Amino acid sequence: MIKLKISLIPVTKYSVGVSAPKEKRTVFYSGLYRKNKFIPPSTIKGLLRSAAVQVEGDRSCEFKISKKLLEMGESNSVNEGESGGIPSNCGDLQNVLEGNMEVHGKVKSMVDEILRTLTIPCRVCRVFGNSRMRGKARIVFPNLRDSIVGPYVLPIGQSMPRRTFSIRDVKDLQFSYELAQNKEQRNPDGILRVEATDATIEFFVICEDEECKELVKEAVKLIDQGLIRLGRYKSRGFGILKANIEEIRD
Ligand SMILES: [Zn+2]
Repeated sequence: MIKLKISLIPVTKYSVGVSAPKEKRTVFYSGLYRKNKFIPPSTIKGLLRSAAVQVEGDRSCEFKISKKLLEMGESNSVNEGESGGIPSNCGDLQNVLEGNMEVHGKVKSMVDEILRTLTIPCRVCRVFGNSRMRGKARIVFPNLRDSIVGPYVLPIGQSMPRRTFSIRDVKDLQFSYELAQNKEQRNPDGILRVEATDATIEFFVICEDEECKELVKEAVKLIDQGLIRLGRYKSRGFGILKANIEEIRD
């Protein structure tokens, strides 16, 4: 077993939250009992997985399927009409191969092509798992209730306050601060209230082998470069992180 310690240090605040339309604000995730605000482990796994998909590009099932669907221009219309599903990962592709999943008529040839050109399960699925298999990476939080959050106010139509990010870290990234002009979603004072935090996140990834370690390391590199961000309102500059990874030898 390989033990990796990962620290995510916010450059800008992040909000791992849900919309509360009645309160007209976004509240930080607090689970079922609403006692403590915290980051669900699935969110962290999702962050690492998204980064890993970008690392692998065309060699990953998700990247390849999304790209093909975009090329087809069918991503919105395939759900209508004919029966059958659209595979979303190597688990589904395996089910198609074994005759356990019916493919939607419009995407049949696309799925055939993917099966010819993709080695399944891909590295992302081998490491992070999919609907059919357990992955080789396990995420362990030292303390789930670490995150202390306070309300953070994002004024509509204005950029985030400068102090929340360093220009050097975001020089090549562009953000949109336009919010939807939906009066129902707005507070009378024109402010969207977002609960966000700049608490550092620390967790461990327990890897079964070197392949897992290498992919997680590369994924962390992309997060560190600001290419993969955490939580909501990413296009407004939230969720940019610096990321450290170290191997722990007991
Ligand atoms: Zn896959």
